Amino acid sequence: MITQQQNTDKQNDLQIKKTACTRCGICCKKGGPSIHFEDRELIEKGNIPLKYLFTIRPDEPLFDNIKEKIEPAKSDIIKIKNKNNSHACIFYDPDDSGCQIYEARPLECRKLKCWDTKEIVSFYDTTRISRKELLFSLDELWSLVLNHQDRCSYQKVATLAGQIKQNKNDHTALQKLNDIIQYDSSLRQLMVEKNPMISEKLEFLFGRPLTLTILLYGLKLKQSSDIIKENNNKSEKILTKYMT
Ligand code: SF4
Repeated sequence: MITQQQNTDKQNDLQIKKTACTRCGICCKKGGPSIHFEDRELIEKGNIPLKYLFTIRPDEPLFDNIKEKIEPAKSDIIKIKNKNNSHACIFYDPDDSGCQIYEARPLECRKLKCWDTKEIVSFYDTTRISRKELLFSLDELWSLVLNHQDRCSYQKVATLAGQIKQNKNDHTALQKLNDIIQYDSSLRQLMVEKNPMISEKLEFLFGRPLTLTILLYGLKLKQSSDIIKENNNKSEKILTKYMT
């Protein structure tokens, strides 16, 4: 693991050696950028398709690279996905250390100077764009996104996870949290059943599955087919309401 001191040494090294981007790919290997208002046209024109984006939802625990600590996200943060099993941006091409969308790369990538981070630090958490502003042709799904956001909010998840950590026999909290996670899962399943094309956009619409992000709270998941079935019925009703 790289320590803060090693990081600083590395940055000092870079400050000495670099004054322009050499397309070394180091920044691209650390993960995809967040999307800002200034990038809206790139998404609208399809330079960066929605299937390559995912959403960090409000209050979701997030490691802030600049502050070097985990904090709840203040709003939607839309990011470019990473490659499977890697931290590298999905558009990073390791064969020539290059960006596959270099001419249409987002604002953060255009502004980042690894040898002088002042500019990016000044704007990285401003002008962030939300899901609503990027829905375009999927506009009719907004009510469904809002409903999911309400039922599966990270505020609720954090409160219930806190109660369970204090008392692992708090069955009411366990049941409520299980219901939220199963609702999130069954909603995704039903969306794909109704429209298989939507599967690659699920992480943009509803963020990462709670079955994964619950691990951020130090909790493990237990499956129950009865609860899944029960929640499938509830989700079916809600989907029918918004998709017909
Ligand atoms: S979009 Fe391109 S420049 Fe930006 S992190 Fe990804 S590969 Fe690198």
